Amino acid sequence: MKKKYVMTAVVAVACFSLMVGCSTKSRSSNETNKSSTNEKIHVTTTFYPMYEFTKQVAGDKADVELLIPSTVEPHDWEPSPKDMKNIQQSDLVVYNSPYMETWEPSIEKSINSEGPTFVKASTGIELMNGIEDEEEKGKQAHAYDPHVWLSPVLAQKEVKNIAEALEKADPDNKDYYEKNSEKYIDQLKDLDKKYQSTLKDVRNKELITQHAAFGYLAKQYGLTQVPIAGLSPEQEPSAAKLAELKKFAQTHHVKTIYFEELTSPKVAKTLADEVGAKTEVLNTLEGLSKEQQKQGLDYIEAMENNLKQLQKSLSE
Ligand SMILES: [Zn+2]
Repeated sequence: MKKKYVMTAVVAVACFSLMVGCSTKSRSSNETNKSSTNEKIHVTTTFYPMYEFTKQVAGDKADVELLIPSTVEPHDWEPSPKDMKNIQQSDLVVYNSPYMETWEPSIEKSINSEGPTFVKASTGIELMNGIEDEEEKGKQAHAYDPHVWLSPVLAQKEVKNIAEALEKADPDNKDYYEKNSEKYIDQLKDLDKKYQSTLKDVRNKELITQHAAFGYLAKQYGLTQVPIAGLSPEQEPSAAKLAELKKFAQTHHVKTIYFEELTSPKVAKTLADEVGAKTEVLNTLEGLSKEQQKQGLDYIEAMENNLKQLQKSLSE
């Protein structure tokens, strides 16, 4: 709907860099009424799981865009002036949590009242504190863990929140969105059942991961996640932390160290070499590689692959 707004790039950049509200959008009376124009609502989603969940509910009734390229690690991503313009011209912006998209609160604050509605998909989910290390805790107050989408149970809540926002923004298609969200939530429930039945009997319960992305998944299915890096993959572990991890891996006979595809696996590989373990990929869904996109990999399939991987390495 808002794609037609006239706004020159120069004005847009000037507005956002000054972080002041501007009223540059010209909106004809027709454009405010969707049913009279038959235009779809324009939804911008931040990173891959937000895109996938929104797409599953929106189907072909809304234009859904992905803001952060899926080959980019989203933790430290910041929007460019062009991204800001896309955000401003959307009807809805779906994001996970201000602890993931850390740029979101200031943008929401700076955008004028005619801007998009911001939809926090993790609304209503109680976030865990992500830092277990006492020393780290002192340095990072309120470091909540944003990785809720990796729990098939909490993912259902995110889908519900997204569906409610779509229904509110586009009431003409309410039934369609409702039906789609129910169908997708059923698939997530099946995924949860598979996780429950597969992981309840695995011999080992400890998994060493590249960064602390699997806390909610581990909690849901009775596993213990020991991350090499912190909540963001860029936080490099200290030498003392590495020595501690090495000891942990040896004590618990950990045979697999997990790494991710969007960040350098160097530390995970070094640790694996030192303790005689192998390395395997566990997908954080924070993005998808070009190869995975070509294969048409989606959330459910990637989560099923993760489960196969967990079953294999936790049974060794
Ligand atoms: Zn992460």
